[in-house]
Amino acid sequence: MNLIARRKDEQQETTAVRVGDVIVGGPQLVVVAGPCAIESYEQLLSTALEIKRLGATMLRGGAYKPRTSPYSFRGKGEHGLKILSQIKELTGLPVVTEVMDARDIERIAEVADMFQIGSRNMQNYTLLSEIGKTKRPVLLKRGLAATLEEWIYAAEYILAEGNDQVVLCERGIRTFETYTRNTVDITAIPALKELTNLPVFLDPSHGTGRRSLVSPVALAGIAAGADGLMIEVHPQPDIALSDGEQSLNFEHFAELMDKIGPVAKAVGREMI
Ligand code: PEP
Ligand code: MN
Repeated sequence: MNLIARRKDEQQETTAVRVGDVIVGGPQLVVVAGPCAIESYEQLLSTALEIKRLGATMLRGGAYKPRTSPYSFRGKGEHGLKILSQIKELTGLPVVTEVMDARDIERIAEVADMFQIGSRNMQNYTLLSEIGKTKRPVLLKRGLAATLEEWIYAAEYILAEGNDQVVLCERGIRTFETYTRNTVDITAIPALKELTNLPVFLDPSHGTGRRSLVSPVALAGIAAGADGLMIEVHPQPDIALSDGEQSLNFEHFAELMDKIGPVAKAVGREMI
């Protein structure tokens, strides 16, 4: 089978994925940060300004949230998108936000510079094909129990529609371990680099589920060759409406950003 994502030889360059004026897969390490969910204008604005000041080059924030329980906060939907577009305009940061349903693609495309396909939808093949038709960059998160092969085939659904702007994001997998929310598969990063020409991200926030573990695992991901990181940041994690226990506050995020530079440099990556 001749896969589009398949790395042909060691000389082959990683696909450059362009998100606004940010290039993913080039020499520069890309840090995407922001809250799990968009909660309010003030919450997103303060976070966006702070992460930008500290060197992140893209903003994340969910308007449509896949929650385990239907009774949990499921995002602000269209209102969240409106906030996202205002903050994008104000800060100039390109934005990534999740698409859960193909019926929302058009609406989300008015704001998003990059679509996120969440873990739970990694094998939603009709959604993947529809996203492929848009030609917009996509952050494809690893399914909760997906093998590398299944994940690459999922990416292929997007690539097969003529959209080569796909970034793979390791976010931990389900194992027998319960101390952490998921088990981060650091090996997946160099393995995907061997198998595919797609850029690879690491999300240590969902990967660990614990604020105290986010920074060390983020650094391990960079050392292993990740092209970028996705980090959940919230002004007041303790009152976050989702994923507070794994979100960094501004101070913790600043500490992480300080540590990233030297590790990135040691493996030949640049930081802005
Ligand atoms: C998220 O990024 O907030 C999210 C829900 O991620 P995942 O799909 O990896 O669980
Ligand atoms: Mn989250």
